[in-house]
Amino acid sequence: YSRRYHEILEKRRSLPVWFQKDEFLQTLRNNQTVILVGETGSGKTTQIPQFVLEAVHVEAEKNPRKWLVGCTQPRRVAAMSVASRVAEEMDVSIGEEVGYTVRFEDCTSSRTVLKYLTDGMLLREAMTDPLLQRYKVIVLDEAHERTLATDLLFGLLKRVLRNRPDLKLVIMSATLEAKKFLEYFSGAPLMKVPGRLHPVEILYTQEPERDYLEAAIRTVVQIHMFEPPGDVLVFLTGEEEIEDACRKIVNKLGDQVNVVPLYSTLPPVMQQKIFDPSPENRRKVVVSTNISETSLTIDGIVYVVDSGFAKQKIYNPSNRVESLLVSPISQASAHQRAGRAGRTQPGKCFRLYTEKSFNHDLQSQTYPEILRSNLANTVLTLTKLGIDNLVCFDFMDPPAPQTLARALNDLVYLGALDDKGNLTKEGEMMSEFPLDPQMAKMLIVSPEFNCSNEILSVSAMLSVPNCFIRPKGEAQKEADEAKARFGHIDGDHLTLLNVYHAYKQNNEDMKWCYENFINHRAMKSADNVRKQLMKIMSKFNLKICSSDFNNPNYYVNIRKALLTGYFMQVAHLDRTGRYLTAKDDQVVHLHPSCCMDHKPEWVIYNEYALTSRNFIRTVTYIRGEWLLDVAPHYYHLPNFPNSETKRILEKLYNKRERKNLK
Ligand code: ADP
Ligand code: MG
Repeated sequence: YSRRYHEILEKRRSLPVWFQKDEFLQTLRNNQTVILVGETGSGKTTQIPQFVLEAVHVEAEKNPRKWLVGCTQPRRVAAMSVASRVAEEMDVSIGEEVGYTVRFEDCTSSRTVLKYLTDGMLLREAMTDPLLQRYKVIVLDEAHERTLATDLLFGLLKRVLRNRPDLKLVIMSATLEAKKFLEYFSGAPLMKVPGRLHPVEILYTQEPERDYLEAAIRTVVQIHMFEPPGDVLVFLTGEEEIEDACRKIVNKLGDQVNVVPLYSTLPPVMQQKIFDPSPENRRKVVVSTNISETSLTIDGIVYVVDSGFAKQKIYNPSNRVESLLVSPISQASAHQRAGRAGRTQPGKCFRLYTEKSFNHDLQSQTYPEILRSNLANTVLTLTKLGIDNLVCFDFMDPPAPQTLARALNDLVYLGALDDKGNLTKEGEMMSEFPLDPQMAKMLIVSPEFNCSNEILSVSAMLSVPNCFIRPKGEAQKEADEAKARFGHIDGDHLTLLNVYHAYKQNNEDMKWCYENFINHRAMKSADNVRKQLMKIMSKFNLKICSSDFNNPNYYVNIRKALLTGYFMQVAHLDRTGRYLTAKDDQVVHLHPSCCMDHKPEWVIYNEYALTSRNFIRTVTYIRGEWLLDVAPHYYHLPNFPNSETKRILEKLYNKRERKNLK
């Protein structure tokens, strides 16, 4: 082993979980399920799977058979970052003995014995391997986050454990909401790793802050000027805001501080930077999303600046709209954030909200994601997993029956389920795409419209972060002009297609991307996603085809294929110039990023963005008559969801009937 290995080992041995290694392994030997609760940073994620691996290895020698230890993470960044760290700790290259699997990326080999993967990926694996036969031990990490996929895994694994007495399960969680887990996994022992948190002084603002971003920057500057040495961790909500904050902090403090951003779309090399110790006498300022709340632990933080906000999924079941919204965090989250300041010495947490607001406005816990989601995808997954009676599924927190019923309905409209709720052949295919059912549907029908090549490209572009770079300040105009050159008059989906084509025509050139304000990283991952989706298409013998570009119907076909997937996301322009969503009469506006310079009567949209107004984003022009063809079940008249659009469609329908009669 290398010197570095021994250096790291020394550090590992001082982590709290090491003091309970034997006790943990003993408990695991005697029980099928173990619940482990420990403070963030105590070494759960990086160490426990290695302990398990050691124990499993000893057994495997007696009975040589290939076993895998899997450890789930709610976030892909965490899965990748932790896997690299553990590979380093074990002195192996990533992808060999230790690997990771996240959506659209598999970094494992036949030698892999320890695999970090997103909870969503383990769920996908269960679709083809219902008893998860490849695994000897499964570690469900960050269970307190209660993501949708983790919640489904709880229920699923309970069943699997009954059928596989040899499988073991470790549930790991950071906060002490362990009572719920204990009741749910009745009989499982609870092991607590004592925290060693130093006291953290909490400071609130006297008055509510009008602009938390500006307040956060001001607070960082004050900490730097008036507080003793120690690194700073700032919690904000998303990429754009974080980059903006980093720039402003650098502007104010220049080279006195080492400012590092952290968010999920940052490339892995950059993400690793948060762990670099800052050079002497320089303060490190990490500006992060809530990923550093519990997923990634950064050592050396003494000051936390908590904006009180995070981007969270919000679902309105009455109109089935799911959107990502910057919203207040819970008291439990605020507590976790503060805790990040007390890992190595006493620290301070600056909350950018009032104490009154903390006590009266914040919920005590974050709602589980399953209660804030559109469940179409969930229902499809569960059906594929053979769980027919959803009402009887052992949910830790069951969603409202009405929400489940809506999801079932939507899947029937999409043709994934038949009237009896059984999976159709098409539904079977849809469940295999790691995409929402609507996008999967659009891919499946695309060969019928002779445009699967194009739909593949559009789907790939929709699955990666925004490819358009829009800098603040002087370059913005230039960026907007560059974007306009890709613009397609019929809509944003086609604009994305133009960008993809141009990128390929220019040989994926980085310089070309730079000059055109296109995010090269996003394009590279789109290319990768496209390849993966194409593989799934080929598996089902779905033809990869294009019509001739000069064919007058080239774009019409693409738009019809788009509509066949997204027919539930249609909006109609009313006489007063507003758009109303077809399914529920919500007033929406075209997002400013939309490239069309006119307002077509009918549009489909990819995303419903709730900000100061209700925006629809990534919008493309379609024709109302097409709805009668591509989604007759949905729009067919007796069932149709809304009266305003129904009246218009009825007219169209009758007009066409008359024409047909003639
Ligand atoms: P837990 O899961 O209990 O929150 P972790 O296992 O994630 O704890 O972290 C244990 C220790 O390993 C922490 O001190 C953390 O800073 C360190 N660590 C984790 N990942 C890295 C990395 N990529 N580089 C350096 N240190 C890391
Ligand atoms: Mg962890």
